[in-house]
Amino acid sequence: MLIHNTPDLYQKVNLLGSQAQYDLCEAQGQPTPLPAVQASAAGLPDVSDSVATVIGQGGRRVPLLRILQTSACEKNCYYCPFRAGRRMRRTTLEPDELAAAFDLMLRKRLVEGLFLSSGIIGTVRTMDRMLATVELVRQKYQWRGYIHLKLLPNAEEAQIERAARLADRLSVNLEAPNEARLARLAPKKDFEQGLVEPLQRAWAIVRRLRSQGHAVASAGAVTQYVVGPAGESDQELLAASQRLYRQVGLRRAYYSAFNPIDDTPLQEEAPTPPRREHRLYQADFMLRQYGFDVAELPFDGQGNLPHDRDPKLAWAARHPEAFPVEINRAPQGLLLRVPGIGPQGASAIVQARRSGRLRSLEELQRLGVRSQQAAPYVLLDGRSPSHQLRLFPV
Ligand code: SF4
Repeated sequence: MLIHNTPDLYQKVNLLGSQAQYDLCEAQGQPTPLPAVQASAAGLPDVSDSVATVIGQGGRRVPLLRILQTSACEKNCYYCPFRAGRRMRRTTLEPDELAAAFDLMLRKRLVEGLFLSSGIIGTVRTMDRMLATVELVRQKYQWRGYIHLKLLPNAEEAQIERAARLADRLSVNLEAPNEARLARLAPKKDFEQGLVEPLQRAWAIVRRLRSQGHAVASAGAVTQYVVGPAGESDQELLAASQRLYRQVGLRRAYYSAFNPIDDTPLQEEAPTPPRREHRLYQADFMLRQYGFDVAELPFDGQGNLPHDRDPKLAWAARHPEAFPVEINRAPQGLLLRVPGIGPQGASAIVQARRSGRLRSLEELQRLGVRSQQAAPYVLLDGRSPSHQLRLFPV
């Protein structure tokens, strides 16, 4: 029956897709929508606002149907366009509608995965609707590819387990780094019980299922913060992320610079500078990929990162005693502390020096190091590269 293939349905898909843009848990920065022309070339009404291309493995751009089950919500989070009572166009998709639309978009090759979030009209009821949608996608339409499913605050244990069995990625948006900050943004949400606990439960369930041989939630769990309006410091945000990386196996955190939305209690607040968001991502990378502890990060007296320079460079400037690092001898962990050397560069150096000594910046460059940035911090076979540069100019 073609009841699902109606212009009305795709208008709802497009609206709920455009409304899902506020959830950035699938990309750093703003994902780009699919050009409308691709949808019409596929013989569908315009659904371009519902498709976001995000960066996948190996840097490939992957189009996802990023959508809300409903834009109706009973909560009143101060930053959110969907907060109860705000005048806006709202709509809902039934599980069979959303699953059928996704299946058709897959078959038209418009998308390669699903990211499903939602407003809340009864946590249990809404979570069940989302799970029913994903069950249809998996079971009726036999989709084996990528699904990211949002866990709603206070989701039940059984719902979390169903979600872990169905989705590749799970997420819970903390929005703030702790209870006190969250109270300034979303007074009806409970930080520990409503948000952190579902992440803890999800982690316990995923580990149990994996130990029984099930391949569940292979892309792990992620979270998102609204950066700025609660007055939190960068240190609070990054400390919260580090706690979750260590305690609940969080795969990554997304930092979303606040932008005020009309007709919300925070409409007069200043937007958060995008530069702050960028520095948070760089510092978060230092926690996840470079082996830094949050206590080592170069915060100022208010607990904020400098905006005018990369935090790894700022850390190096504060720690002259850590340099220079001898490229031919230093353990990988020390190489990772050098500005300009990333995880791939550090691995490549360790690999390359098994077959001979590294003596020039050109060699480092070929191994993926930003050699000009690294030069002031390293020795190559006992010599400073600037000395070598004078001898062997590039
Ligand atoms: S619960 Fe979610 S959708 Fe509802 S107002 Fe809060 S942030 Fe917005």
